[in-house]
Amino acid sequence: MWARALRAIPGGVNSATRFIGPPYAWSHAAGAYIYDADGRRYIDYHAAFGATLLGHADERVTTAVTEAIREHDLIGLGVTELEIQCAELLNETIPSAEQTILTMSGSESTFQAVRLARGATGRDLIIKFQGCFHGWHDSVARNVISTVDSAYGMDPISSGILPPALEATLIAEFNDLSSVEHLFADHPDRIAAIILEPIPHNVGCILPDQEFLEGLRQMCTKHGSVLIFDEVITGFRHAPGGYQQLCGVTPDLTTFGKAMGNGHPVAGMSGSQSLMSQFSSAGGPVLLAGTFNGGAVSTAAAIATVTAVNDPGFHSRLFAKGDRMRSGLAGIVEKLGITAHVTGFGSVFILYFCDGPVRGYRDLLDHNDLAYAEFHRRMTGRGFAMLPMSLKRNHISDAHTDEHIDLTIEAAEIVIGELVMEGIAT
Ligand code: PLP
Repeated sequence: MWARALRAIPGGVNSATRFIGPPYAWSHAAGAYIYDADGRRYIDYHAAFGATLLGHADERVTTAVTEAIREHDLIGLGVTELEIQCAELLNETIPSAEQTILTMSGSESTFQAVRLARGATGRDLIIKFQGCFHGWHDSVARNVISTVDSAYGMDPISSGILPPALEATLIAEFNDLSSVEHLFADHPDRIAAIILEPIPHNVGCILPDQEFLEGLRQMCTKHGSVLIFDEVITGFRHAPGGYQQLCGVTPDLTTFGKAMGNGHPVAGMSGSQSLMSQFSSAGGPVLLAGTFNGGAVSTAAAIATVTAVNDPGFHSRLFAKGDRMRSGLAGIVEKLGITAHVTGFGSVFILYFCDGPVRGYRDLLDHNDLAYAEFHRRMTGRGFAMLPMSLKRNHISDAHTDEHIDLTIEAAEIVIGELVMEGIAT
């Protein structure tokens, strides 16, 4: 399969971060497991970068999708009952949502949010934080996992971007309000929006200070800028209404995706009615378009998933499993006395090979990437699929059990012990 993929697809994969080394090809997935093409089974914490929150092929979602496509596929004209139901459910669930649009991916959602902010304010600049990722489009495509030399400077994640698009995005440090204040002072009346992951999970887990989030809210209100929470990872996973429900800070716009459809391609963007009415669909000047927006499969998957995460016991179940994993891994780190730090939030866990606590991207610049790469390779070899990049995160789903977690901790103890013996982790 891999040889055929290499001939037919550039690099053999449809998204660059899927190239993680062996195993290369997969056959099927169910619950907490994924199966490679040689028939080996893995407990899956990669979870499609966090999309499969309920577990793979969850019956609630599969049933909703198959029922929906018996009625219609994509009509692409006017609106369907599914689209209305989905928007109503999201408006009830997400604190900042008065109105909602559906898209097909997180990148489309953040694209729409940034363009809407620029269109509504008539301003050109946006602020993002070093380490946050908001998708592949030009306005946000810089300064994610930067090296020591390129962090905070001009660090595009792709070639082919027009320099003015990159230059219109200013970079600040997470949890550091003064770095944002400086940018407002240097560019009066030009900041259209601040966009952030309320917990930057694209570099693992940097927990936000409450005063930091409240400070950003106040600054945006004071300067007439749009506050965008990119809840593509935190949305539905940490609470039905995303991290904003937990921290009590309400952004102007919210983007979400990933876990929203439990693996089906659906994402969205919500906001206040006054901002959302700037879309051309409501007679405003900001284009809203997308052939596949609101198709039956995506929308039915979203309704079923968001309904499931609204179950009162859902998050306490998930968070208890996250605590079990984090305390097990932290126990190993403590016992071995190595330079490593276990953190995370709710169902997300991270093993950093550097000292903690991690409060901003600067604290990650001396991370031991080699130790993580070996940890990842050896855990995968033992049947535990984890995120390949050293600063990313791992995800627990509703389908994982305490037994899965205990098996993972046992394997991690052996693997980390090997790394210490070989001098890879110190
Ligand atoms: N925003 C965040 C926080 C993300 O993590 C991602 C993807 O990883 C995106 C946006 C882009 O989403 P998509 O890959 O669905 O385009």
